[in-house]
Amino acid sequence: MAAGAENRETTKEALISLVVPVYNEQEVLAAFFARIEPVVAEIIATTDRVARAEVVFVDDGSTDRTAETILAHRSSVLDLKLVKLSRNFRKDNALAAGLMHAGGDAVIPMDVDLQDPPEVIGQMVSAWLDGAKVVNAKRASRVRDSFLKRTSSRMFYKIINRLSEYPIEPDVGDFRLFDRQVVEILNDMPERVRFMKGMFAWVGFAPVTIEYDRDERAEGESKWTYWKLWNFALDGITGSTTLPIRAWTYFGFCVAVLAVVSAVFLILRTLIFGIDVPGYASLMVITLFLGACNLIALGM
Ligand code: UDP
Ligand code: MG
Repeated sequence: MAAGAENRETTKEALISLVVPVYNEQEVLAAFFARIEPVVAEIIATTDRVARAEVVFVDDGSTDRTAETILAHRSSVLDLKLVKLSRNFRKDNALAAGLMHAGGDAVIPMDVDLQDPPEVIGQMVSAWLDGAKVVNAKRASRVRDSFLKRTSSRMFYKIINRLSEYPIEPDVGDFRLFDRQVVEILNDMPERVRFMKGMFAWVGFAPVTIEYDRDERAEGESKWTYWKLWNFALDGITGSTTLPIRAWTYFGFCVAVLAVVSAVFLILRTLIFGIDVPGYASLMVITLFLGACNLIALGM
């Protein structure tokens, strides 16, 4: 065991995987390669463990020449893999597919548009070489995001962290580093709706956090619309907490209590003042009570 651990530290054979979902990104690919290759070459040259690096591109149903551009690229530093999805599955699913195809000892999901600065990868890798299992890259500020995006994201983190049992760190996107061990756990998770931020938070492991300034998108434009973001946020909330379901049980209990109270009231009123509309009291009580039972059962 001790010999194995020693071996791990001294032999130069580690593989780093970058997992990059791409959706109609033909314009930005050249800039991506130009920035990433020197960074990776430097990591390989200066660390005594990292020997190779691969990029796992996941083509999330692009309709432009994204896949052809990737296949045409020749790199002396990077091994390139391309996973092609049959249609647009949205970024989180593309990322999940990429993690399943990444063979690295350390795996780094990142965006292709250079908003996740490749230079931060060097710091992530050295934190990993120092023993970190998870390294998070956190945006130092969001001044480059629009006011609407900033406020909506702040609200999203507030709500989800109020509801969810495991906190999701604000302003940490998908730009992170995971040790192989963590990637295996993520890949084994059976979730069908793969809200990655929630899954990353769920696996635990005390993360090391590195702060960085998020750049503007290098080329092309954002693939997110507010409608997509809204649905993404809903997936996140329903995927991380059962509160929206339990809420119906609580609501059902409240209605049941109300039903009992009004039953008592209606019965007393009928006894004291007599019947004004025949059947009203009994119908009302039964309707309310059964409605409440339904809601409680629905919640369960
Ligand atoms: N992306 C994807 N599928 C989508 C939308 C986006 O794979 O349906 C990729 C996109 O190509 C990019 C990353 O996810 O590499 C981040 O997308 P974008 O820059 O548009 O998001 P933003 O930075 O505006 O949040
Ligand atoms: Mg972007």
